[in-house]
Amino acid sequence: MFKYDPGELIGQHVSIVNAPNDKSPEFIATQIMLELERTGTWSGEIQNRRKDSTTFWCQANVTTFEHPEFGQIWVSEHQDISERKQAEQKLRIAATAFETQESIIIADADTIILEVNQAFTKISGYAATEVIGKRPNMLGSGIHDDSFYEQMWNEVKQHGQWHGEIWNRRKNGEIYLGLLTISTVKNGHNEVTNYVGSLIDISERKYSEDKIKQLVYYDQLTQLPNRTLLYDRLQQAFSASARSNLHNALLFIDLDNFKTLNDSLGHHIGDLLLQQVAQRLLACVREGDTVARVGGDEFVIILENLNAKPEDAATQSEIIGEKILGNLTIPYQLNHHEYIGTPSIGFALFKGHSISIDALLKQADIAMYQAKAAGRNTLRFFDQRMQEIVNTRAALENDLHEAIQNFQFFLHYQPQVDIAGTIIGAEALIRWQHPIRGLVAPMEFISLAEETGLILPIGQWVMETACLQLVAWSKSPATRTLQLAVNVSANQFRQENFAKQVQELLERTGAEPTRLKLELTESLLVENIEDVINKMSVLKALGVSFSLDDFGTGYSSLSYLKKLPLDQLKIDKGFVNDLLTDPNDAAIARTIIALAQSMGLNVIAEGVETKAQRDFLAIHGCHYFQGYLFSKPVSIEQFEALLKST
Ligand code: C2E
Ligand code: MG
Ligand code: MG
Repeated sequence: MFKYDPGELIGQHVSIVNAPNDKSPEFIATQIMLELERTGTWSGEIQNRRKDSTTFWCQANVTTFEHPEFGQIWVSEHQDISERKQAEQKLRIAATAFETQESIIIADADTIILEVNQAFTKISGYAATEVIGKRPNMLGSGIHDDSFYEQMWNEVKQHGQWHGEIWNRRKNGEIYLGLLTISTVKNGHNEVTNYVGSLIDISERKYSEDKIKQLVYYDQLTQLPNRTLLYDRLQQAFSASARSNLHNALLFIDLDNFKTLNDSLGHHIGDLLLQQVAQRLLACVREGDTVARVGGDEFVIILENLNAKPEDAATQSEIIGEKILGNLTIPYQLNHHEYIGTPSIGFALFKGHSISIDALLKQADIAMYQAKAAGRNTLRFFDQRMQEIVNTRAALENDLHEAIQNFQFFLHYQPQVDIAGTIIGAEALIRWQHPIRGLVAPMEFISLAEETGLILPIGQWVMETACLQLVAWSKSPATRTLQLAVNVSANQFRQENFAKQVQELLERTGAEPTRLKLELTESLLVENIEDVINKMSVLKALGVSFSLDDFGTGYSSLSYLKKLPLDQLKIDKGFVNDLLTDPNDAAIARTIIALAQSMGLNVIAEGVETKAQRDFLAIHGCHYFQGYLFSKPVSIEQFEALLKST
């Protein structure tokens, strides 16, 4: 036991086999000796030391007696108790481990609770005495059905363990979610003796998980799925429809004039509208359809499992679209404001993985814009024709960028004549010589240029070219007095430094300001009228004159009109066209002339194609004309030739 050879210890002090301890071996020996002197025996646990210095625990029984030869002697009997000591240590560890943060229940083979720890009490609210002797089912929440528990115990029986989430009820009635592990303890005969259940309260964790999910996948204002979740659902819908061969539809819904509501009544009112719209949309679709909010006032709906035939699926979604349209136009109560809103809705059908999510969204978006263009409060289906229009537009936009760099623009000049038929000037009209498409008319690209902002460099180029033309004309007496009219887009005029730009251009080119006439449109007048007046006044002071183009087609308020430093009204060719056949147009033309006269403005008619039109206008007091009757817009050479011939 001590690994000494017999005889090695003879003559040594007994403390040689005692393990070093916080108390010295001599001290322990003295203690034992005192006891022996009193009672004649000592027994206890003692840590011993082997020859190789390793230590071990022994149960020692010491007795003393008188030896005839040596006098009083001790006999010490030692039994190695290392194993027992180890088990005790394990128990101590187990006892400590038992009191952890995890709630632990120990039950017998009949699931009668034998012991619980403090964490159990903390989590469940039950004191140990309230549960010991009872069964764990008293902790159930009532949320799970019998089959849940059946499965759980089957699993425990088969695999010795079950692990999963479980809803329990606290003593105070509150329900909480726990992560439970049930383990079995078996004896040497492989019989279950105990069950140990350990549980962590994860309701907090679960709550934050849900909260995170809610934040990541849902729109916080309406609680509808957001764009991220929409993509997810679309992906699923793609796959599901590929299997089922049924069509799905994607609806893109945009609220008309939402910005105006927001700006006029405030964002909190706008928010209320969005919430109510969300509710109404949900009410219009079937369970399983997705309603998502993807932007400020933009909603997307996925309708699934429509008909296999595209025509029928289209009709089905149109019916739902109409229903939505009807629902969303019912007046809203937004706090104490009654509000009537309308949506524009675009549709696209899809099935399987035929296109990408982005392309599909784009299609519905395009259709939605068609609905807007068709006057709002309506729905439109996406079809291939729409796509082509969009494609050409996109291509055109691309080309337009290059057109500026590659000098593909040039100007045509259309004469403006007076009552005597003398050419007094011209309107500069832009032309685009497209390398493949040939000559592109401004009607086809000006609005695109306006939308994309390209009108700014284009307009700058037109203005500069016109100024240079005026400079060229100023060299000869025959052309020195000609006035050149240049069209100015609202976007151009709206630039803060517009007046300054024109002024600099005039100075740089040396063009005579009084020869330059700017044609504005009525669309300018719906904006900051004071700003418009300021800019016009600056240029007017330099000698530049102004004509109001396409007059009569816009919505000019007469009171505004009076404030503007205008020189001329230009009767829109739409009225001139039907002058002799449509009494309304004739009346409008006459009214415009009278209006111009009363405001001290001169008036010019555009689009004059016949002598009869010219005469009618002349009789009623219009003294300037422009139109095919005199000349189409022509190149500068042709225009100058025309000048010479008349
Ligand atoms: P607008 O300023 O009203 O120009 C008059 C348009 O009427 C021109 O079309 C002209 O060719 C056409 N026209 C002239 N006489 C007659 C006629 O007797 N009968 C008919 N049916 N049409 C006639 P165009 O050149 O195609 O220009 C269309 C529009 O594009 C212009 O309308 C103007 O708004 C815009 N535009 C043209 N050039 C420019 C430019 O340099 N800058 C800007 N911002 N817009 C321009
Ligand atoms: Mg014009
Ligand atoms: Mg016009």
